[in-house]
Amino acid sequence: MWIDSHCHLDAPEFDADRAEVIARARAAGVGLLVIPSVTPATFATAREPQQCNGVYALGIHPLYVDAMPMDAVAQLADALQRWHDDPRLVAVGEIGMDGFVPQWQDPGHRAARKHLRRPAGAGPGMACP
Ligand SMILES: [Zn+2]
Repeated sequence: MWIDSHCHLDAPEFDADRAEVIARARAAGVGLLVIPSVTPATFATAREPQQCNGVYALGIHPLYVDAMPMDAVAQLADALQRWHDDPRLVAVGEIGMDGFVPQWQDPGHRAARKHLRRPAGAGPGMACP
């Protein structure tokens, strides 16, 4: 079985053909999809039933922080608590821990990431890389 460990099927770009994309992936032998959300706006889409051959993660990616509502981290913490017992919720992410953007290494971004890591303590079985 193939596993797509990082597919953004929660993105609005897939609204028109998400089911077809999933069907093509399954036909190609992909048995599991890991859908990491990047903004609170896509949390619900990441866990939609039609993606039930997928598991999901909830997170806020640093690339989108400037466009986030002020309560985005609170929304993340709330969603992690609300869906904590959902067996398809497998991780916190994505939250940009890879640090591939050089400016994320400055102290301000490190402090922001520290805040984003805090919701990871919402329950056992969730961990930030
Ligand atoms: Zn990603």
